[in-house]
Amino acid sequence: MADIHEVLRSNWGYTSFRPLQEEIIRSVLDGHDTLGLMPTGGGKSITFQVPALTLGGLAVVITPLISLMKDQVDNLRRRHIRAVCLHSGMTAGERRVAWEKLVNAKAQFLYIAPERLGSEKFLMELRRLPVKLIVVDEAHCISQWGYDFRPSYLNIKVLRKLFPTIPVLALTATATPEVADDIMHQLGCRDPHIFRMSFARDNISYICRPSEQKFHDLVHILGRTSGSAIVYVRSRKRTREIAEHLCAAGIPATFYHAGLTFDVKEERQNDWKEGRVRVIAATNAFGMGIDKPDVRLVIHFDLPPSLEEYYQEAGRAGRDGLPSYAVLLVSHYDAPTLRRRLTESFPDRDDIRLVYERVCNFLHLSIGEGYDRLLEFDFDAFCRTFRMSDRLVKASLHILGQAGYLNFIEETESRSRVMMDIDRESLYEVSGLSPDAERVLTKTLRLYTGTFTDFVYIDELRIARELDMDSRTVYEAFLELDRAGVMTYVPRRRTPYMHIPTSREETRYVVIGKTIYEERIRIMSRRIESMIDYASSDASCRIKRLLAYFGEKDAGECRKCDVCRDRKKRSAPSSADPSRSILTILADEGPQRATALIDRLPPPRDVAVSILRRLHTEGTLKYDRGYYTLAETFNANQSNTKQ
Ligand code: ADP
Repeated sequence: MADIHEVLRSNWGYTSFRPLQEEIIRSVLDGHDTLGLMPTGGGKSITFQVPALTLGGLAVVITPLISLMKDQVDNLRRRHIRAVCLHSGMTAGERRVAWEKLVNAKAQFLYIAPERLGSEKFLMELRRLPVKLIVVDEAHCISQWGYDFRPSYLNIKVLRKLFPTIPVLALTATATPEVADDIMHQLGCRDPHIFRMSFARDNISYICRPSEQKFHDLVHILGRTSGSAIVYVRSRKRTREIAEHLCAAGIPATFYHAGLTFDVKEERQNDWKEGRVRVIAATNAFGMGIDKPDVRLVIHFDLPPSLEEYYQEAGRAGRDGLPSYAVLLVSHYDAPTLRRRLTESFPDRDDIRLVYERVCNFLHLSIGEGYDRLLEFDFDAFCRTFRMSDRLVKASLHILGQAGYLNFIEETESRSRVMMDIDRESLYEVSGLSPDAERVLTKTLRLYTGTFTDFVYIDELRIARELDMDSRTVYEAFLELDRAGVMTYVPRRRTPYMHIPTSREETRYVVIGKTIYEERIRIMSRRIESMIDYASSDASCRIKRLLAYFGEKDAGECRKCDVCRDRKKRSAPSSADPSRSILTILADEGPQRATALIDRLPPPRDVAVSILRRLHTEGTLKYDRGYYTLAETFNANQSNTKQ
């Protein structure tokens, strides 16, 4: 077996492991089921990639998002590590290429979405492969208690039966103790080894700021700070409004949400990443897999629906370890808005059933039809056709997904790709192509490597630009090359899909059970209340509260959050006005021993003593048996005014 340090060095060029990485890797190599809890940016990928390469054979990695899957596969391939993925957005041709690699032992990693494990055929094929490690990424998705429960994650259990002796490594960045227990239970882990990295991020100051004029405050905060920033907001429309408002105030900003095309998203993300615009206003669609180290400020314009999400998003600040801020703007509308979202997320059961019926009609499925089919589903056209609000339809589809009737797959493969159908030598024998097709072919081969062995993403716009052609001509040239059998061209597509896990039911038999309705309302409501409580109370240090939520009960005070700063400000005497500090301390904390009070005032001591005496003589303070108190006549509110 290769040495893990050598594997790390030769493939990644890193000289040492980060905290806990080595422990997790050794636990897996010793054959233990392992749970790794690491904050975002902690370096989770290495903890399964290194043991997988050390063990040899194949590691199966289950991950929920196609985009994450593609990112990881691309990253590994860049390091000449052989990885493939299988997901619903791939064509039959792409899947065939992936399987060929798997059966010919030309892949060390197989990335799949959990839905795939619902297919018997897939499991039969998988059984024949030399699987050495099972990795469950974003493992909190398996838990009903987690904030992002995905029923298809429960399929992972079948892997246990298929490979009873293979260790499972589960990884997540957000797990309360309850969720961590549930992950291990749901995965059927035997005697699991658990590694929990502290979730404390010492360089981030968490601030909750009361704000009734958020646009104004946003400009104010950004004006007083420097460096890259993300502004998170819950609505797509707001992302644009915020960016426009900031630009008008002279702060370069752009916006990002899931509804933009792939090219626009790429462009904006790159502009922000490379520092051409300072601020990106985004929905929660932004951030996954974006590893920008020097984000100085993450501002939440709205309350997220859970502390898990808040922590994840705020944690995108300061990954380089330098001082950074996570600011939550809180108005008195926020709590009621968040509570209303709970109601919106759970439409009436009759409405949910109606959505089911209409979707099936829209897809032309009769009762008893549709089992395991994957059909294009134009969400906007559906809402328009039936005049239903997209919120209602989205929420209903989500619940129908949890109930196992319909899986709405919003995320689609959005880039075009090509693979050559002939080998390099046969290129010279190709004849009869139009001059445009010839030029496009030559340019593609020059710009992209690896097209003879796999599907490779291409950018038609870039090819068009470089050839000084219009993009329609390039598109047609690719179609011609495909027809001529030179290459397979898979143009980009934007329509989402609907996967039908069970044949169409009669609407009245569609069951929306208690566990996915009442029980989930209860869980979501609890999370929302924790979030509201965090945002509205300043009873204790923010980081202490966040960490306690994630099971770290004995964390110390951070001394940087708004609560700690406020406290420090109130108790630290101001050198500018020591008498005011004395009054503040006594008003906030009650009677104080004279010596202790003097210790808290700026030196020299004799000045502090004379001020105390003066306040006593003029009747502002009382002195009794070594203790100072405020005289009754003194109005405590007056001293409470913040300095
Ligand atoms: P996570 O999945 O926990 O958010 P990643 O696995 O994406 O984190 O790692 C975050 C970053 O840290 C990546 O850029 C990765 O290459 C880097 N990294 C991980 N482990 C090490 C290490 N041992 N030494 C140096 N850099 C590392």
